[in-house]
Amino acid sequence: MRRPGRVGVYYEEELPTTPCFRCGATPSAYTWTICSDGNRYRPICLPCDIALQEVVLLFMGFKNWRSKLERYKARVAAEGPAGGGCPSGAGESRRAMGGG
Ligand SMILES: [Zn+2]
Repeated sequence: MRRPGRVGVYYEEELPTTPCFRCGATPSAYTWTICSDGNRYRPICLPCDIALQEVVLLFMGFKNWRSKLERYKARVAAEGPAGGGCPSGAGESRRAMGGG
């Protein structure tokens, strides 16, 4: 089966039934885009989103990457994907839905 991803954004209501691009788990929580991937929208589950956050924090060389990651994990646990979470994902879905 082809891994999920497309040119158009995934809407919030689609993510619960869309498998994660990385691990295939359902539900996906966010959508990521990567410029070198043709900016296709890739659905990502919450554990894979947190793993991606960690990779990026480490790559950027943040000395306090652990505390940044713990704050992020606490926030998404408290608010869920609809509460904001990854700015490259949920925010875009909300805009696509015309919400605020
Ligand atoms: Zn995943």
